[in-house]
Amino acid sequence: MDRRKFIKYAGLASGSLALAGVSAGSFMADRSKDSYTGWGRTPYGKDQFFNRTPFLVEKPTYQVVGKPERITYVENIFRRNAELYRLLMDRHPDGITWDKSQGIEGLPEPLKTYYTNHPSAFEEFFRMREKAREQRANWEKYKDKYHLAEAWSTAHSSFLRGPEPFPAEPSGPPEEADFRGVNPNPLPLKSPEHGSKLIKKIAHSFGATLVGIARIKKEWVYQGSLRGVGRVDFEVPKHWKYAVVFAVPHEWESFYANPVYGTSYDAYSMLRYISGKLEVFIKEIGYSARSHVPPGQYDLIMPPLGIDAGLGELGRNGILITPELGGNTRLAAISTDMPLEADKPIDAGINKFCKKCKICAEECPSGSISFDDAPKHVTRGFKRWKIDQDKCYTAWNSFATSHAKGCRICLAVCPYSRKNNWIHTLAREVDPRDPTGLTGKAMLEMQKNFFDYPGANEYLPPPDGNNKTFGKPPDWLLTEEWFDV
Ligand code: SF4
Ligand code: SF4
Repeated sequence: MDRRKFIKYAGLASGSLALAGVSAGSFMADRSKDSYTGWGRTPYGKDQFFNRTPFLVEKPTYQVVGKPERITYVENIFRRNAELYRLLMDRHPDGITWDKSQGIEGLPEPLKTYYTNHPSAFEEFFRMREKAREQRANWEKYKDKYHLAEAWSTAHSSFLRGPEPFPAEPSGPPEEADFRGVNPNPLPLKSPEHGSKLIKKIAHSFGATLVGIARIKKEWVYQGSLRGVGRVDFEVPKHWKYAVVFAVPHEWESFYANPVYGTSYDAYSMLRYISGKLEVFIKEIGYSARSHVPPGQYDLIMPPLGIDAGLGELGRNGILITPELGGNTRLAAISTDMPLEADKPIDAGINKFCKKCKICAEECPSGSISFDDAPKHVTRGFKRWKIDQDKCYTAWNSFATSHAKGCRICLAVCPYSRKNNWIHTLAREVDPRDPTGLTGKAMLEMQKNFFDYPGANEYLPPPDGNNKTFGKPPDWLLTEEWFDV
């Protein structure tokens, strides 16, 4: 590097370090719920909250003018209409039959009383039915223009379809299961680039924090067992062309308080909902789709797909570390034949930082994470840091709480696992651009000095440790705050 460049880079690094030093406390800040998704505030976030305190009153503003009564179910339009529909379709649960010619007089109770008191509602029901018929007939005229809106709404309501779980597990070979429910008349997609942009926007609208697209390589497909078929060796289905890979973080406060206050299932349940909706959406617009979701409903392995999709890099702790969420990145994917444009992988200096950091290895209560400076272990043809899965799983089964069957300490202690506050943004922007390595070194020093690391054994229950957590548990998870214990 020439002298001028060195001075420029050194200046950049030291400037950022000064800023970082002054503001180290910011690492601990920004713990409010409004940045839950970890990619800045939620679209409507904090600013949408309203300070109610000046407007608190002793009595509610509704007016009581008579003797309050309980609501009956037929006062709810949807339940009332459903009851009338069942009668018209001869599907009343008690076998009661009725047709319109019998009028309100012939209706069973409580419909009879309701419509006797509200005869216009009875007339309106039949007007509504006519309109619904017209609406269905008109759909032919509108269906292209509102194709996406319809698909988006259908995806949102798909959780109602059953059966559990959601998304439904595939049944039968992928060539059948992944195409079940696919719209046979898709509109022509303008380009794969349009496809990728659209799917990313839709995935975000369903709640995904990060979304990337990867081509599916055969080495990322499990062998020996295929969901919907059973234990078989199989060729990678030809329609598994792309993976839409998406991520959400765990709830941050409980996440920092791993192992005993955290859980894997807060993120898992969100991923399953996103995935189920995305699967339906992709089918609605005419392409095959299969969800690969936690805890174990995968035919694809996630971290390498996340790397290919440009979401992040593999950390020493064996998981995907992303610049936005660090190790607080939980993944799911949809495999599809939709024409998409794959993203490029990134090198944001994470792997390089891992070589020096080793915090996860130091804090791992089972000693499962390698301390090697550089990755040496070879797994299925790929060099990586070795993780002892079996020892790790023993730790999962050792903590005071068994509900979450997990540990997640190596995720929580990772310096990249910080909310998207400005200091985090600065660090992740400057470090990968700083060829002197000074920024990374200083960030690591700060990390080790400003954060309290209990030490590997302390996370375990007595007699080996003291049930310690990395971060302070949130008050809303402290039993003693709310119950007499
Ligand atoms: S804690 Fe450090 S070594 Fe471990 S994954 Fe995070 S950055 Fe890498
Ligand atoms: S989950 Fe816990 S036990 Fe397993 S590698 Fe990470 S820190 Fe170690």
